[in-house]
Amino acid sequence: MSVKESGEEMDKKENRQVNIRQIRIKDDFWSGLQNLVADEVIPYQEKVLNDEIPGIEKSHAVANFRIAAGLEKGEFYGMVFQDSDVAKWLEGVAYSLTVKPDPELEKRADEVIEIIEKAQQPDGYLNTYFTIKEPEHRWQNLQECHELYCAGHMMEAAVAYYEITGKDRLLKVMCRMADHIDRRFGEGEGKVSGIPGHQEVEIGLMRLYHVTGEERYCKLANYFINERGKNPHFFEEESRKRGWTHFGIDPKDTKYNQSYATVYEQKDAVGHAVRAVYMYTAMADLAGSNGDDKLYEACLMLWKSIAERRMYLTAGIGSTGELEAFTVDYDLPNDMVYAETCASIGLIFFAKQMLEINPDGRFADVMERAFYNGTISGMQLDGKRFFYVNPLEVNPGISGEVPGYRHVLAQRPQWYACACCPPNLVRLLMSLGKYLWDETEDVVYSHMFAGQTAELGKADIRVESQYPWNGMVRYTVEQKTEKPFTLAIHIPSYIKEFTVLINGKEIQAKDYMRKGYLYLERTWNHDVVEIRFELAVRKIYANQKVREDAGCTALMRGPFVYCFEGKDNGPDLQSCHIAEDMKAEAFAIEEGMLKGLTGIHVDGWKYTGSDELYSEEKPHKEKIRLTAIPYYAWGNRGENKMRVWMLE
Ligand code: ZN
Repeated sequence: MSVKESGEEMDKKENRQVNIRQIRIKDDFWSGLQNLVADEVIPYQEKVLNDEIPGIEKSHAVANFRIAAGLEKGEFYGMVFQDSDVAKWLEGVAYSLTVKPDPELEKRADEVIEIIEKAQQPDGYLNTYFTIKEPEHRWQNLQECHELYCAGHMMEAAVAYYEITGKDRLLKVMCRMADHIDRRFGEGEGKVSGIPGHQEVEIGLMRLYHVTGEERYCKLANYFINERGKNPHFFEEESRKRGWTHFGIDPKDTKYNQSYATVYEQKDAVGHAVRAVYMYTAMADLAGSNGDDKLYEACLMLWKSIAERRMYLTAGIGSTGELEAFTVDYDLPNDMVYAETCASIGLIFFAKQMLEINPDGRFADVMERAFYNGTISGMQLDGKRFFYVNPLEVNPGISGEVPGYRHVLAQRPQWYACACCPPNLVRLLMSLGKYLWDETEDVVYSHMFAGQTAELGKADIRVESQYPWNGMVRYTVEQKTEKPFTLAIHIPSYIKEFTVLINGKEIQAKDYMRKGYLYLERTWNHDVVEIRFELAVRKIYANQKVREDAGCTALMRGPFVYCFEGKDNGPDLQSCHIAEDMKAEAFAIEEGMLKGLTGIHVDGWKYTGSDELYSEEKPHKEKIRLTAIPYYAWGNRGENKMRVWMLE
């Protein structure tokens, strides 16, 4: 396909993704998180899904499947989309088996899959809510009831489980469900029109297509994407026809679920942020798979809307808790924000699909930003508690309490009735390998630095990395094929000065840079590419149109956004300023919960004034030394204030 903007001819993206079984992460930063997920989070979530942890929100998700399968008596319990928790857990387990093989866990996952298979209806339908509770209402409320959404997640789980274990039981179940959906929805004879109220099935269908090669699944995904917005009154008409509601969501609010216009007419990212990025992900997958220029242009338009005008510094998206949604350009309140963990995860999915079509560093930059900030901030450092909302400013007593701020919590709760984020984070972290590479006929792309061994098609590559805390990454490349090939390494755009050594000899790196990637072509024979750079503390300023950040600065070092907590800086963060001529110094945190992280000491001013509410007394300032920590680690030392943007 031609990518008009760059003027470059692009091929269809076919099979660019590397097999994640061939990637072994051995990284000081990511291995720690992956081990935490394997040792703590997955077993914990398994217990939650099986209702084995007292005193937290009941899940009942596995029980729902057992009841639908006729294995036990009982009622459905939970959200209408409760099934998706099991799907996300299974997908996480699949990836986890590549990180840490665990035959016992695999056996238990097999047992859950057996229950799921039994819960499937003879016609292929799979959904425990409607099977147990309202069988007469199947497929009548696409707007609110998430049948297609749950199917999409289970398709993703099925594909992952098959790719990693080679077992196709769940894959077959989900092909039958996809066939069931395909018989019902579309343009052919005897089919009805329909679109999901929460996009996700499009991603699932594309993944089924990639693994089975069944064109119908690709066509069905294409149908759901292209059908959206053709009739902007679809959900209203559907609602009138059925005469009942599940959540009471207004069917007229078509921006909420991005059905107000066709995807080609949508110029801005609007509505519920997770729905939006899941849709864009599937659009980009379709665009790349079908060589569909027009659809790629639509993706690019929406990408720019997010990355250039509607995204937080942390790669959080969704500026308002009201409907968990995008608002308007440059409206990025720090303390009333939503920035759902899942939305930043979805942004990573979108970025990766864009990279597969067009390896441009701007996509990789956002992907990295989301990985190191707005996604992993969702998990407490011990893996036991989770955020749904990821604010850039928290004020206990207001956050979580005052109307308008109630959704913003100062501490991570254990589990949620609507538990979308924790299992989503599990599957993201355990499948990290998927995001690090792409491989075409001539080029191996490295999108993100991470220590690992990667057995790719053309070469075995060992990456040793001191990133993200220090600026040294070393690739050792052992070619497996005859033909020379190009290794293209993404250099994050904030790294302005860097040195590249090949087998110890420095090259003029800038001559090899194209769109954020360092292109090195040769026949690789145990060659070593070493990249060195300084990780300085950087001051970041927001566009002056962002009201909340006017007069403020934020600190970054490497890929990390930093934040200031009351714990280190006292309770009056709002009256602390960073000095204009700041002297900043990175330091290793040596004790407590944050041990091993790099903090920043920076010069600042603290203002104190009259106790009166208003007075003519001018506040006086005193010099102080402020301490910042990586944003993702905030809220790990008890409830306290937090700010990313500080007055300067
Ligand atoms: Zn979520």
